[in-house]
Amino acid sequence: MIDIVKLSKTFGTRTLWADVTATVSRGEMLALVGPSGSGKSTLLNCIGLLEKPNAGEIRYEGKDIIRFGRREVRKFRRDVLGYLFQNYALIENATVAANLDVAAKPQRINRGEAGVTIAGALDRVGLAGREKEKIHHLSGGEQQRVALARLMVKQPALVLADEPTGALDHANAKTVIDILREMSDAGCAVVIATHDDRVRDRCDAAFAVNENSLVA
Ligand code: ADP
Ligand code: MG
Repeated sequence: MIDIVKLSKTFGTRTLWADVTATVSRGEMLALVGPSGSGKSTLLNCIGLLEKPNAGEIRYEGKDIIRFGRREVRKFRRDVLGYLFQNYALIENATVAANLDVAAKPQRINRGEAGVTIAGALDRVGLAGREKEKIHHLSGGEQQRVALARLMVKQPALVLADEPTGALDHANAKTVIDILREMSDAGCAVVIATHDDRVRDRCDAAFAVNENSLVA
């Protein structure tokens, strides 16, 4: 699915990580671990085409996505990528339903039986019937679950999650991990930057960014 090949990132004279090589396949969940400041988010953002590495390749279906032109980047974001940000990245002033609709639109053309409906996704994250509420009236945990529901509606092939349980209580954190695991079991590739051992334990592999190696 995604092959990271000898990827390096420097800021000025500081090397954040160098020669990172790792693979994430469909159905697989990879944790990016390491102390704060070790470059987990930066690596995630390079895969999500939000930042550019200084050297190396990120191969997807045989193509180096780093060298994608603007149209290919847009298509990759729209058709392949799902992002679960720490700050949820929801439209604050809009309703729950409107936020989920944004994810549903690009796919509507070829949505098959397998598609998750907005109502179905909200039900799965414990927010059944909350379509009409404004995002800014929801708690942090509820907003995070809306972001998860949006991901379920979008059904991306690649999910990138940055500290998805960082600000959540135990029950909400469990819901987040369970659903990411379900999406991965359904064939999606998931990469999670995390320092939460509960998340890491549910992943198939963990890559220590600071040590540049897979860890047990
Ligand atoms: P983590 O997610 O593991 O906590 P980050 O990827 O957020 O780590 O950040 C890694 C380091 O890179 C931090 O020390 C941060 O200050 C630095 N950094 C991030 N972006 C920039 C930038 N644009 N310019 C310089 N340094 C940066
Ligand atoms: Mg981070």
